[in-house]
Amino acid sequence: MSGTLAIIGRPNVGKSTLFNRLVGRRLALVDDRPGVTRDRREGEGRIADLTFAVIDTAGLDDAPPSSLEGRMRAQTEAAIAESDVCLFLVDARSGVTPLDRHFADLLRRSGKPVVLAANKCEGRAGESGLYEAFELGLGEPIALSAEHGEGLSELYDAIAPHLGGEAADSFGDEHEADGEDDEEGPHALRLAVIGRPNTGKSTMINALVGEDRLLTGPEAGITRDSIAIDWTWRGREIRLYDTAGMRRRSRVTEKLEKLAVADTLRAVRFAEVVVLMIDATQPFEKQDLHIADLVAREGRACVIALNKWDLVTDKRGVRAELEEMVDRLLPQLKGVPIVTLSALTGKSLDTLLPAVLHIYEVWQQRLPTAELNRWLSEALQAHPPPAPGGRRIRLRYITQVKGRPPTFVVFCSRPQALPDAYRRYLVNGLREAFDLWGVPIRLHLRKGD
Ligand code: GDP
Ligand code: GDP
Repeated sequence: MSGTLAIIGRPNVGKSTLFNRLVGRRLALVDDRPGVTRDRREGEGRIADLTFAVIDTAGLDDAPPSSLEGRMRAQTEAAIAESDVCLFLVDARSGVTPLDRHFADLLRRSGKPVVLAANKCEGRAGESGLYEAFELGLGEPIALSAEHGEGLSELYDAIAPHLGGEAADSFGDEHEADGEDDEEGPHALRLAVIGRPNTGKSTMINALVGEDRLLTGPEAGITRDSIAIDWTWRGREIRLYDTAGMRRRSRVTEKLEKLAVADTLRAVRFAEVVVLMIDATQPFEKQDLHIADLVAREGRACVIALNKWDLVTDKRGVRAELEEMVDRLLPQLKGVPIVTLSALTGKSLDTLLPAVLHIYEVWQQRLPTAELNRWLSEALQAHPPPAPGGRRIRLRYITQVKGRPPTFVVFCSRPQALPDAYRRYLVNGLREAFDLWGVPIRLHLRKGD
């Protein structure tokens, strides 16, 4: 062990959850000395190859309200004093509260290194809170989800230099604990295959996994339940989530339809990369569009598999038509990879996984702030922002706050006044400059001069 990390924050931000994730099943040393230390736990934390002591200042909820602040303060001060680095946790879902500001002041005054993290950042619910956390003046917040094990590699990079380790650039997300699993070990890429019934999802999964794991048949909706399959493809661990797909309202009861929609949503949320299966012999429909839009809204990476290619005669025409539709109707996923294949014959099936792995890398990529700002100044010069009311809107600074999907904050003199078209210009510019094709991009404007 090479140092001590104190987890600091007000009640309910997720300190204990993070403590448990870091300490895992390794036995926590219970400190039973009387006094302030009664409320805290210590244990041996670990992220990948980095081991350290962790102090969790939890258990304050039982304190009588009158003494809450006093006890919290004494405890927190003791933990800060013993630590080499403080991890200051805020709750991205509830935003920054006065009590958070109070802790921020305490930490700033302590002179200890502070790493700021916004917890509960899985999905999109935490995004606005993440940006609010900038206002605490403790640097760029790390987007964490203690519950789902997300953001641990960023946490590693931030705390390692203070704990006798090194910030390793090569340390990627594959070292993150799997969201479903407390055990250490390589992270299985979570993949879901979704699409309308009868597009060939089960046939493809069977062909890929090489076993008759699912029942396939000509009737729509024969595979009714969601199934997760663990499998290894060229040495890469993959956890596959299969769904029955969405069923058309006209063919089934509404209840079943709702179930299927919920199932697709669950699959999308489970997945890091989603394969959207389309039957090349059927026209691209509203329902396909809805599914693709869901994938983009949930911020997942996507590959479109255009299946039953063996049945298509006008291959060039069909492909061009789909490309045109996707470009026009799915700007959120501009440049999404489209793979044509035949699940039944196996033709071109081997092109799917390389496309999946590629888009996964794009999706979780982190871009250096310096390069982003160089790009921003060029983009501003090429096409200056408008000047409503005679005052030009100023864009000062851009930084990527997280990957999975790529999420950026731009500091702007008048965020409300910047037209949507200009925001789109910036998003498209980022795609082109940094090859971010085919993944949703989040771009947030924050007021800042
Ligand atoms: P503490 O009081 O700071 O130790 O907070 P806890 O660890 O007890 O967590 C407070 C609540 O937040 C619990 O209901 C947790 O399940 C929940 N929680 C913790 N981490 C996360 C997270 O990453 N995402 C979400 N959505 N909830 C979380
Ligand atoms: P799911 O409902 O999306 O899981 O679709 P299935 O895998 O059950 O496939 C529906 C039907 O399409 C079955 O009769 C399959 O044999 C057929 N099918 C699947 N993939 C292909 C393909 O690449 N080419 C052709 N010709 N038929 C396919």
